[in-house]
Amino acid sequence: MVTGRFAPSPTGPLHLGNLRTALLAWLQARAAGGRFLLRFEDLDTGRVRGAAYQSTRDDLHWLGLDWDAEHRQSERLDLYAAALTRLDTYPCTCSRREIQAGIQASAGAPHGTEAVYSGLCLDPAHRQPGRPAALRWRVPDETVCVTDCWTGDELCQNLRREVGDFVVQRGDGVYAYHLAVVVDDFEMGVTDVLRGADLWEATPRQVALQQTLGFPTPRYWHVPLLTDYRGERLAKRGGAPSVQSLRTGGADPAALRAELARSLGWALGETASLQKLLQRFARTT
Ligand code: GLU
Repeated sequence: MVTGRFAPSPTGPLHLGNLRTALLAWLQARAAGGRFLLRFEDLDTGRVRGAAYQSTRDDLHWLGLDWDAEHRQSERLDLYAAALTRLDTYPCTCSRREIQAGIQASAGAPHGTEAVYSGLCLDPAHRQPGRPAALRWRVPDETVCVTDCWTGDELCQNLRREVGDFVVQRGDGVYAYHLAVVVDDFEMGVTDVLRGADLWEATPRQVALQQTLGFPTPRYWHVPLLTDYRGERLAKRGGAPSVQSLRTGGADPAALRAELARSLGWALGETASLQKLLQRFARTT
């Protein structure tokens, strides 16, 4: 059965960009007659804001969205620990600054937009027993390709050359996003991952983890990020207006649905029912 999810990090109130992604994820799952899950990605407890869980639920309900189950990553640590034991990892005590210096010193980097970790911590000379160690996954020397259902784009990355061994557990014990998301999407039977385009470039990493752990790869849909009038991406930190302020200020959710649709180039009039949006989504795909 088609299963989609919305996976916000409860670090603050949702902004319109988050809400549009949630709406599209819901439409994708429901247009296919599938299940929809809400998963709070709350592993980084230092950044979690307790009020964000309920305000997220309220925002989604206000827009008319519903879900079949709710999960919190912070309650699923045993699953991530078990998956970690199945990966070939090594401890890394290097600081960010040392890694940055290692990148500058190594020949082939930086590559593309992202600097490639040089393998610095593999050298025992760089191990510092007194420091907390992160765990890095020894990535396979393979090219991983993924195709996106929303854009039709294909992305191929050789993980060793273009990404480097990445952190799967931080030095403070927090499981890394890539590991948790792959374990959860598998455990929750997620068939379709619809999320912001900012995660597209990281997708081959997640596919490689799936392949190593023996998990099927879901379909991916990377939707454009909502930008403001200056063309800048909306961000909680940048002071983007919160959905909560619209909701409590008495905005009309049917008008907001139409506006979110309009921002995708879908002209549906002044207000839009979920029914109308479902039909429009079905035509897109
Ligand atoms: N938690 C991530 C975020 O809020 C989304 C992860 C995902 O959808 O894979 O950006």
